[in-house]
Amino acid sequence: MNPEEEIKGLRNKLHKYNNSYYNNDVSLVSDFEFDMLLKKLEELEKKYPQFYDFNSPTVRVGGEVTKKFQSFNHNFPMYSLANTYSKDEIKEWIKRIEKKWGHKINDFNCELKFDGASINLYYEQGKLKRALTRGDGTKGDDVTSNIKTIKNIPLVLNGNYPEKFEIRGEVILPIHSFNTLNNERKDKGLPLFRNPRNTASGSLKLQHSKEVALRKLKCFFYSIVGENSSLYHSDLLEKSREWGFFIPASMKRVNSINEIFHFIDFWGKKKSELPYEIDGIVVKVNSIKVQNELGFTAKVPRWAISYKYKAERQSTLLLSVNYQIGRTGAVTPVANFEPINLSGTIVKRASLHNSDQIERLGLRIGDYVYVEKGGEIIPKIVGIDKHRRGALDNLIKFIENCPECGSKLEKVEGEAQHYCKDEINCKTQIIGKIQHFVSRKAMNIESLGSERVILLFKKGIIKNIADIYKIEVEKLTNLEGMAEKSALNLIESIKESKKQPFQKVLFSIGIRHVGETVASKLANHFGSIENLINSSYHDLVSVEEIGEKIVKSINRYFKNPQNLLIIEKLSKEGIKFKIDDNKNKSNILNGKTFVISGTFENLSREEIKQLVLENGGKLSSAVNSKTKIIIGGESIGPTKKQKAYLLKVPIIGEKEFLKMLNT
Ligand code: AMP
Ligand code: ZN
Repeated sequence: MNPEEEIKGLRNKLHKYNNSYYNNDVSLVSDFEFDMLLKKLEELEKKYPQFYDFNSPTVRVGGEVTKKFQSFNHNFPMYSLANTYSKDEIKEWIKRIEKKWGHKINDFNCELKFDGASINLYYEQGKLKRALTRGDGTKGDDVTSNIKTIKNIPLVLNGNYPEKFEIRGEVILPIHSFNTLNNERKDKGLPLFRNPRNTASGSLKLQHSKEVALRKLKCFFYSIVGENSSLYHSDLLEKSREWGFFIPASMKRVNSINEIFHFIDFWGKKKSELPYEIDGIVVKVNSIKVQNELGFTAKVPRWAISYKYKAERQSTLLLSVNYQIGRTGAVTPVANFEPINLSGTIVKRASLHNSDQIERLGLRIGDYVYVEKGGEIIPKIVGIDKHRRGALDNLIKFIENCPECGSKLEKVEGEAQHYCKDEINCKTQIIGKIQHFVSRKAMNIESLGSERVILLFKKGIIKNIADIYKIEVEKLTNLEGMAEKSALNLIESIKESKKQPFQKVLFSIGIRHVGETVASKLANHFGSIENLINSSYHDLVSVEEIGEKIVKSINRYFKNPQNLLIIEKLSKEGIKFKIDDNKNKSNILNGKTFVISGTFENLSREEIKQLVLENGGKLSSAVNSKTKIIIGGESIGPTKKQKAYLLKVPIIGEKEFLKMLNT
């Protein structure tokens, strides 16, 4: 076979496998085979750059950087949708369009209204050419390189597709992916994202497409434009499913208003069980001919309407605002109001995020505020009742000093958040830092839960993380509710935590922006805290994924003599501040960095990690160019897998790994 044919064959296969996996939930090949094929393709593409393809499966991992998104006119404007909260208005809408069309209309397509960012994709000869955001409806931004990283968007189509057409869909972030992302941010001490919708649309505008690739976005399609090959909208969608687009199975073609109402009621009840967010449903006239006759107003199509579920919104009296200080000093204003019942849960508090929102609303104590269960996740304040305002002199002024320690708050350039920068005297920050230090992903001191940390801090038994290792049993048994047995357990788990490897320790000490991954990168690169402290700016930025922000934060942390003192104390207690290398059983794995992913047949993950370290290897939690080998179990993560092909990192299994050790 000549190389061109071979490359094409591989691309076809991989597109097919990818589509089947992401859109139909069927794996046609084993992970291993997929890996091998992609790696092969990648090698061939490097060797024969003349066969470059804009839509090759190898572009999914990202890599392109867009400094400024170019904007383009839409061929067909992207309209809004007329919307209503009442079924009567749906009846009226049908009457209105029947009058305009002059006949009865009894063919509709009901769809969910996905809550994300809309996108218009342009295909030519079965290939994705360009992706534009909605923008202002007439003009959108070209985000093609980011869109190509979304795994369920086909880059190349199957079957009998039209030569040229445009398709529209909603890019969404599933709720669990949103939560995972926020948990990671919490670990890093970064401000949290507000809701999946904002995060989805923000992601499309990230400059680094590699970052987009990691976000687990999806795209649901709901309309085809510039294509009249079918008589019915629903048929076009069904067809496009065959071309490789993800058309949610929830859509339903109906013939009566009662069926429309039934669809509304059904999803009204079911929507909270969906793994993603919707903000209503959409009813569309199904005949394309009738659609064309009805046309558009200046803003919306006449042939569609969206029914929005009443956001569970209520007004309530604002009682006070207080300010929470996170472990990294970030200040979050929190509104306290008279308790209300929002879709079954009692709510009395909502985050106000940062000073901007308070200013924008001109919030006063005594105002009646509207609280909504926004996106079903965290309640939020969406406005104020203009007729029931609090007294003018109750205007809320964002605090200037930390309510805990009194030090002046500061804003970091480029961030909306205020910070308390006094890490030494600010009690809540200290408690937060201790809670982080002992948490499961950090030093994993099981018997020391958040409440216990507060108690021990209040009793003066621990004042900082180093004090944990000085706790004496007698002090604990004096405490209320602590029997001798649980005191001993606590001491034991504290002792146990001294075994935690350097990268965990580095994560645990709570440097802002240094999450699990960054900590392990730094640990592997520098090998010891001493090297890290003495590293130059240049040394730091040469580590993959370490940018300006992280470098600044690291420098700030180590400039603080208090932090250095604590490290010294911890070090005296035997906490590991360098990579283990003295108890090597062999040096066979010297110079090799491993990423471990998936689950294994005989050994546990921890055991494998131990073996790697004992034989001179290093561990990393993410695949990078320095990774030598991945030990992949059954369910190795797809992100890791994709990175592995791109970087040509071989994936080996448990058996092969053990074989390596025995040679
Ligand atoms: P709106 O922004 O409320 O005027 O509603 C219009 C937007 O709804 C469109 O731009 C799409 O992003 C979004 N949308 C979500 N699901 C659908 C759907 N099934 N059909 C049409 N638009 C949808
Ligand atoms: Zn403070």
